[in-house]
Amino acid sequence: MTGAAPIANPDALLELRAVSTDQGAGRAATFWRSGWRGADAHSTATPALDRVDLTLTAGEVVGLLGESTAGGAMVGRVAVGLVAPCAGERFYDGERITDLRSAAARRARLALQMLLADTPGTLDPRQRIVDVVGEAPVAQRLIGRRQQVEYVGLMLNRVGVDPLLMRHRPHEFSAGQRARIGIARAIAVRPRVLVANEFLAPLEITERAQVLNLLADLRLALELTCLVVSRDVATVRHAAQRTVVMYLGRVIERAGTAELLARPNHPYTKALLAHDGNVVPGRRVWATHIGEAPSPLHPPRGCHYHPRCPVALPRCREVAPALVTIAPGHDAACHLNDCA
Ligand code: SF4
Repeated sequence: MTGAAPIANPDALLELRAVSTDQGAGRAATFWRSGWRGADAHSTATPALDRVDLTLTAGEVVGLLGESTAGGAMVGRVAVGLVAPCAGERFYDGERITDLRSAAARRARLALQMLLADTPGTLDPRQRIVDVVGEAPVAQRLIGRRQQVEYVGLMLNRVGVDPLLMRHRPHEFSAGQRARIGIARAIAVRPRVLVANEFLAPLEITERAQVLNLLADLRLALELTCLVVSRDVATVRHAAQRTVVMYLGRVIERAGTAELLARPNHPYTKALLAHDGNVVPGRRVWATHIGEAPSPLHPPRGCHYHPRCPVALPRCREVAPALVTIAPGHDAACHLNDCA
C-alpha cells in the first residue's frame, strides 16, 4: 500500500519535517556547489539528527543555538541540500524537494545558499575575488560573462567591499572583509534563503556586529529568509526572531527569541544562558553544565542530557522526552514538564 504524499506547510518557505541523518553523514560531505567550496571536510564528530522539525516562514530569521554547533550545522547542510537525510522530508516553497525536476530543482538549489565561517578552503586562495563572486552567476547563466565585472562590482558595493579590489585574492583581505565577500558570493546567485553556519564565529566582536547589521540590511533589501546557526547567545538574540535549541542532534526547546531568553524551560537551555552570562535577575539558573559533553557519536540513552542534568529523574535514563507545547509558541522536551 502506498501512503499519500506529505503535504507542505502552506506558511513555510522552507520546512524540514522529522529529518534524521546517519552517523557520520557530515564527514562524507565534501562538495562543490554554486561556485563555492564547502569547508565540511573539516567537520569531525557530528551527531546524527534525530527527527528534527524546522520551519522557516518567508522573511524571518531563525536562530539555531547549541553549545557545539555540530548538530545545527548538520541541520543547515540538510536544509540547503548538501546532505541527504536518511529519513524525513524537505519542502521548499510548497514543494517536496525530492519531487522537483530539472529547472525547478536548479531554482531550489540556487535559492538555498549557505554562508560558511572563514576557514581555510572556504574561499579558494588561488581565485581572484572577481571569480570567487562572479563564477557561479555566470555558470548558472544568471548573467553573461561580459557582465561579470560590472555585476561583481555591484555585489561588492552591496556588502561594503571596494570594487577596485576585485582582482585581489582572499588572503589580501581581513577576516571581516572575507566574511563580506562570502556574503557577496552567496547573494550573487539571488537566493531566497541564507543559512549562516557559525559564519560570524571567527570575527572580532566589532566586526561581528557590523556583519550582523549588514545581514539585517540585506535581509530587508533582498527579502531574504535566514537560518543562523550559532553557539553565541548574543548573536541569536541580536539576529533571530525565533530560536531553536539543539542538543546532540535533537531539538530540545524552541520559542520566540525574547520568550526563550526570558523564560528558558529546558535545563540545558538554562545552563547555556547561565554559561553565557545571561542570568535573569531573581531567577534560579543552573550555574553551568556538569561534566564534559558526551561523544556525539555515542549519545546517552533516554534524554541525551541526563548525565549532565542536575535534576534528572530515573526515567530520564531510559525514555527520551517528547517535544511538547508548554506555552503558546513555546515547546520543550523535558520530563519535568510531565510533573508540572
Ligand atoms: S528530561 Fe530529565 S535529564 Fe533531560 S533535561 Fe529534563 S530532567 Fe534533565
